[in-house]
Amino acid sequence: MAAPSIVWFRDDLRLADNPALRAALDRDEPVVGLYLLDEDSPGMRPLGGAAKWWLHHSLTSLGEDLAAKGATLVLRRGAASDVLPAFVADTGAGAVFWNRRYSRPERDIDAGLKASLREDGVTVESFAASLLFEPWTVKTGAGKPFSVYSPFWRACLSLPSPRAPLPEPREVAGFSGRVDSDDLDDWELLPTSPDWAGGLRERWTPGEAAAKRRLKEFIADDLGGYDRSRDEPASGSTSMLSPRLRWGELSPYQVWTAAVDEGNPRRFLSELGWREFAWHTLFHNPDLATVNLRREFDAFPWPRLNPTHLEAWQKGETGVAMVDAGMKELWVSGWMHNRVRMVTASFLIKNLLIDWRRGEEWFWDCLVDADAANNPFSWQWVAGSGADAAPYFRVFNPELQAEKFDPKREYIRTWAPEHVSGDAPEPIVDLKESRKAALEAYEEVKRAP
Ligand code: FAD
Repeated sequence: MAAPSIVWFRDDLRLADNPALRAALDRDEPVVGLYLLDEDSPGMRPLGGAAKWWLHHSLTSLGEDLAAKGATLVLRRGAASDVLPAFVADTGAGAVFWNRRYSRPERDIDAGLKASLREDGVTVESFAASLLFEPWTVKTGAGKPFSVYSPFWRACLSLPSPRAPLPEPREVAGFSGRVDSDDLDDWELLPTSPDWAGGLRERWTPGEAAAKRRLKEFIADDLGGYDRSRDEPASGSTSMLSPRLRWGELSPYQVWTAAVDEGNPRRFLSELGWREFAWHTLFHNPDLATVNLRREFDAFPWPRLNPTHLEAWQKGETGVAMVDAGMKELWVSGWMHNRVRMVTASFLIKNLLIDWRRGEEWFWDCLVDADAANNPFSWQWVAGSGADAAPYFRVFNPELQAEKFDPKREYIRTWAPEHVSGDAPEPIVDLKESRKAALEAYEEVKRAP
């Protein structure tokens, strides 16, 4: 029997613009797809609840799409360094192809596997598919990583333009040998008791086909008004492609090309640039989710955690309209508008004086787009401890933010109607007083050596 090619799918749950799949097809041997749920390798961050929900449905969709082309998606669970070699042996594969990952534990796993499989005579190749610019290729004049966004993005834009996306293959010649696969249901990625995913089902259809539809719709209907209304959470004018990019149902090359073909929507492209910058930052600072990038923030005098305040924030019961609306949007639908993410994060860190890491963990658990770089990067940005961060003393005033960006209170009415009907609880903290306390606490950071 022919020695098949394995395509190891990871954060690239798509058939179009998938260089690993393309390479497998070019090798001209039967193809078998593999998805490996790895919660066992050292350093792997367990997925949050909303992410697991998304993954279940996206894998179902990818399995169906592959089957329609003629190939199978096999599911296996365990540490990649054990499972992948075993799968290569099971199938007698002659080659393994994958698209690159960029977090430290994943890079270590992939580098180890690449070396050991090659030693065994297996062809292994990896490709750039999830980022427009490989993190190590973007350097300052002094050859260092960037820590400020604008020069970073300028440097990216001076590099050769991102390549055109690869077309979706018409068919994939599948491997006909017998291979065992886990049953997706046995992975128990979906919540059961209770089933809290009703709001997610209502808002989202995971999978490549729905991702492509949304990209088309966004380009046709919303991109033109993006600059004007991207900050208004009720307008629905941002792309909502973040979970698609997180899971790789779309590649950034597809999004980039679709947008560039519509002119030069600089503002929108620069948001893709922030995603690149977050990953650049994570690549060079693997502990981004736990360690302050600006180490002087280690001196920040966080008071003892007030669990009642944390819970009120998580549940959207702070008595502050914009914060409650955002936190309920997150809880119910697994997503939150960017402006409101900034407001809710600032409220937690600065008005409630709760360590940004507690907020990062909650978002990680609740977001369908929970992203190993964007999430901690953005939390550190709001906290002031991150790369090119908002200065600590910039405390978002949630009431002014609501007046400015939700003047008709449409967003607040949708997610926290109690704030419109007058039934909302009193705010759990005084905005002015708490702001003052935060600025006093910050003095310690300024005094830090
Ligand atoms: P659009 O405005 O349509 O932008 C297009 C794409 O660009 C997005 O899909 C996203 O991939 C990228 N992008 C946009 N804004 C940013 C940004 N500020 N930083 C990095 N990439 C960006 N984004 C995530 O994808 N995952 C997260 O876990 C995440 N956590 C966040 C936590 C906080 C506290 C904050 C303030 C922001 C966070 N973001 C995160 C960034 C941003 O809020 C979302 O990417 C954006 O709201 C997604 O909506 P959209 O797809 O409609 O964005």
